[in-house]
Amino acid sequence: MRRRPSTANLAGLSPEKARNLLREKQRLDRMAAKELRVRFPQFATLRVDLVFNDEATLPPAPQSIVLYPPARAYFVYPCPYNSCSGELNLAANVDDIAEQGTEHAVGHVRCSGERHGAHGKAPCNLHIQYSIAAGR
Ligand SMILES: [Zn+2]
Repeated sequence: MRRRPSTANLAGLSPEKARNLLREKQRLDRMAAKELRVRFPQFATLRVDLVFNDEATLPPAPQSIVLYPPARAYFVYPCPYNSCSGELNLAANVDDIAEQGTEHAVGHVRCSGERHGAHGKAPCNLHIQYSIAAGR
C-alpha cells in the first residue's frame, strides 16, 4: 500500500511548523488570486468585518479589512489565535453577493481548527461573526 503524503505529514509537525506551512500556503494562494477589479469588476470596494467571541477568555480584537480594485480577491482569514490551525473562508459568501447583486451579507461560524494550549490540543470553537459589504 502506498503512503499518502501531505496531511498525514502535517500532523507530525510541531504546531509552529504546521502553522508556518499554512501561512505560506495562504500567501501563495493570495498571490495566485486574481485582482478584485478583474474578478469582481462591479465592486469599487469590499469590506470585511470580523468580530470574535470566546466564552472562556477575553476574545481577540475585531478585524476590519477593506479591499480596493488592485487588491487580490482572496478571502481566507486565519484564526486570530496564534496556536490555532483554523481559517475562515468567505470566498463562497463573496460569490453569493456578486451573483445576487446584494450589497451586504452577515453570518456567523465557529472556528473548526484546533488550538494547542497548556493541556494539549483542543477544538478552537472561537465564535466568528462576519459581515461583508460591497461598495459599488
Ligand atoms: Zn481557531
